[in-house]
Amino acid sequence: MSKSQSKSKVVAKCRSCGSVFVSEQLSDGTIRPIGVSADCTCGDGAFDRLS
Ligand SMILES: [Zn+2]
Repeated sequence: MSKSQSKSKVVAKCRSCGSVFVSEQLSDGTIRPIGVSADCTCGDGAFDRLS
């Protein structure tokens, strides 16, 4: 059974500046904030999942 890439909605916090974003987590574990480009507005792209 092949599954297309599933995304789940999570809340994530930027490791650098602490901003919290509603984000989507891809099936490979990547967390991407929704509503901003790929990275946080501070320029960092590392997020910790909160929810
Ligand atoms: Zn940030």
